[in-house]
Amino acid sequence: MAIATHGYAAQSAASPLAPHRFERRDPLPDDVVIDILYCGVCHSDLHTARNEWKNTLYPCVPGHEIVGTVSAVGDKVTKFKVGDTVGVGCMVDSCQHCASCDEGLEQYCENGFTGTYNGPVFGGENTFGGYSDKIVVKQDFVLRVSHQSNLAAVAPLLCAGITTWSPLRHWGAGPGKKVGIVGLGGLGHMGVKLASALGAHVVLFTTSPGKEADAKRLGAHEVVVSKDPAQMAAHAGSLDLIVNTVAAQHDLDPFLNLLKRDGTMCLVGAPEYPHPSPTVFNLIFKRRSLAGSLIGGIAETQEMLDFCAEHDIVSDIETIDMAQINEAYERMLKSDVRYRFVVDIASLKQAA
Ligand code: NAP
Ligand code: ZN
Repeated sequence: MAIATHGYAAQSAASPLAPHRFERRDPLPDDVVIDILYCGVCHSDLHTARNEWKNTLYPCVPGHEIVGTVSAVGDKVTKFKVGDTVGVGCMVDSCQHCASCDEGLEQYCENGFTGTYNGPVFGGENTFGGYSDKIVVKQDFVLRVSHQSNLAAVAPLLCAGITTWSPLRHWGAGPGKKVGIVGLGGLGHMGVKLASALGAHVVLFTTSPGKEADAKRLGAHEVVVSKDPAQMAAHAGSLDLIVNTVAAQHDLDPFLNLLKRDGTMCLVGAPEYPHPSPTVFNLIFKRRSLAGSLIGGIAETQEMLDFCAEHDIVSDIETIDMAQINEAYERMLKSDVRYRFVVDIASLKQAA
């Protein structure tokens, strides 16, 4: 006896997302059953639904920015009870005994973590994400949500929030540091909010001149239109850290030139086609680093959620019905997201 679930799935790289019925497993002793309230729409959902990373298993039910209510728990669950408000991000399992898992860095699990959707990185059964009305997750991969209101706007913290928080913390964003965020989309707008809340001087780099006022309202101290060489030159050699969230292939050299000696640009955007290799001289003459970062571990995701609850930080969202998801993807491709779409899962129940 499994749990009947309604969702939205892509059946192939070329097909739009459409209603899909499937089953969740009955809870194992360590499992939490969650009635999903909201699910954010990440650009990774689009990359995966359309097989842009060439690893998609179909049917594909995306969604890894999940907030919901616990509806049942397995016999051995100690951390959650029925009625709790909880979150699920990009992972639902990992080996939990390798060096990375031991350090709480499950996203770098040496045996491959299990993604919330399209999960089996190194084999195993497919997993189905949050564009659905229920999910069953091992308690160790469930997060506590202590925000008291605006839960739809909390959902994007589970991916966009942690993916920017982790590199900001790792490279020490804070007072006295000049931090650049590239791209004002879902990840970028959380990067601006979090870097600013951590006390850094924040410069937002955008290709969309119309986003300047919003960037300042979100916490950026300065805004640079990255296509304007004069505006870029004004920041040459001055940044300690850049978090680059751009979802498309682009030239990295203009951004590397903005770093100070020993500065780091961390790529979190994961485009379909690779960036051209940057010019070596731009790295060696100032001992600059080009790095990457993947989401964040469970403990640091909880730390970020608690920090956001304490500082009253949520995402700026546009709530949509599940049936609007294909249109939302097209708008995301035009950089027309202000600044995260979030699906109201009640719309899915009504449609079912
Ligand atoms: P998004 O909402 O679409 O935002 C991306 C932003 O990048 C756009 O709003 C736009 O900002 C800028 N941009 C888009 N196309 C561009 C182009 N051709 N040249 C320059 N700038 C461009 O996407 P997202 O959900 O934030 O995700 C961003 C990327 O991060 C995706 O590739 C996603 O898969 C990846 N991701 C990675 C991780 C990880 O763990 N590393 C986790 C989640 C997502 P402006 O209008 O301001 O220029
Ligand atoms: Zn994501």
